[in-house]
Amino acid sequence: MDLAFDRQHIWHPYTSILAPLPCYPVNRAQGVYLYLDDETPLIDGMSSWWAAIHGYNHPELTQAAHQQLDKMAHVMFGGITHQPAIEVCQRLLALTPKNLQHIFLADSGSVAVEVSLKMALQYWQAKGEPRAKFLTLRHGYHGDTFAAMSVTDPDNSMHRLYKGFLPEHIFADSPQIGFWQHWQEHDIDNFRTQLAEHHLQIAAVILEPIVQGAGGMRMYHPEFLRQVRSLCDEYGILLILDEIATGFGRTGKLFACQHAGIEPDIMCVGKALTGGYMTLAATLTSKQVAETVCRGEAQCFMHGPTFMGNPLACAVAAASLALIEQGDWQTQVARIETQFAARLPNFQAYPIVKETRWLGAIGVIETHHPVNMEVIQALFVSLGVWIRPFGHLIYLMPPYICTAEQIDTLLHAVEIALQDQHNFQIT
Ligand code: PMP
Repeated sequence: MDLAFDRQHIWHPYTSILAPLPCYPVNRAQGVYLYLDDETPLIDGMSSWWAAIHGYNHPELTQAAHQQLDKMAHVMFGGITHQPAIEVCQRLLALTPKNLQHIFLADSGSVAVEVSLKMALQYWQAKGEPRAKFLTLRHGYHGDTFAAMSVTDPDNSMHRLYKGFLPEHIFADSPQIGFWQHWQEHDIDNFRTQLAEHHLQIAAVILEPIVQGAGGMRMYHPEFLRQVRSLCDEYGILLILDEIATGFGRTGKLFACQHAGIEPDIMCVGKALTGGYMTLAATLTSKQVAETVCRGEAQCFMHGPTFMGNPLACAVAAASLALIEQGDWQTQVARIETQFAARLPNFQAYPIVKETRWLGAIGVIETHHPVNMEVIQALFVSLGVWIRPFGHLIYLMPPYICTAEQIDTLLHAVEIALQDQHNFQIT
């Protein structure tokens, strides 16, 4: 592979053109393994950013893609429909909370979030009471497009970078009580106060249920989410749940909102929807919200991207949802959680470790110092694993099909990394 060309000309996520870190050439992927150009196998601890839950090149998903490709890769969705879209939506409705009845197929997670916010805005316009603010949580993350960024944690640099261009929304303190801790009533105080103070301006609350992902890998108490739901009900405000990272079993429940036994008014899913094969996301909403939106001035919902409902992506997503329906994910995720629960607390013995936490197939080690990305990445690769930390967080989000031995190998590699301070930026 022409890595020099890549380095010179191609932008990778969140990287500099001036001083790019090395990129590892991956040639193929099979099961839980990524194979480098020289055929070195790496156990994937990331599921390609939390998406490849069934592993790579899964026979059923690959077959679904081939079959669909032979028929048509894409056709516009305006005025046309097709079986892959119908099937994926039927399967989605069967799996998601019962009140959600209408589906908008979006191109990516960020677009699904944009769509959810636009729905909330059109909902209030249609009610003749336009509202333009969203209430969300600190340490949240909802994507990299503008509206999604505007409801993402304000203290990360994105807000500073685009100040003046990003709409300003309302942020409540993020929950402090962890998933496994005893609930304390004061944890919801700030959220309740913000809602009480601004409720007449607020179109919707948007948050990541139970796990705040890219904004800090924080797992919070289900009671927080339960109370958010009842406060939204009390004030008649819509609740948007961003299940893009948490959906499809990652937290041990099919959707994280089930930990709290609640249903959202609008829900975003993405990432694992296609089993990590390609980009597809969806925004689901209740009958009441969908119908209200369409009674407004525009008489429709105002969004319709070129590749909406891409048949190839829908066909693979339908196959992925069929695998989820078979239910093996439940025992797989529970087993991974048991392994994390047994091993991660021991890592706290290393001085670099601030805290460890886990939920479902998510294991997190928060360190006192940020990682030295180039050094730690090379170490992980030399140990035969693909783990991509960020900042102070080393985390594991393996494919559900990982065996106990493969999870052990991932944990062992993390433990080795924690033992050497050269893997961290200690000043
Ligand atoms: N919401 C959440 C909770 C996410 O974790 C992400 C992606 N990490 C997004 C939205 C954005 O999804 P995408 O990268 O597909 O645009």
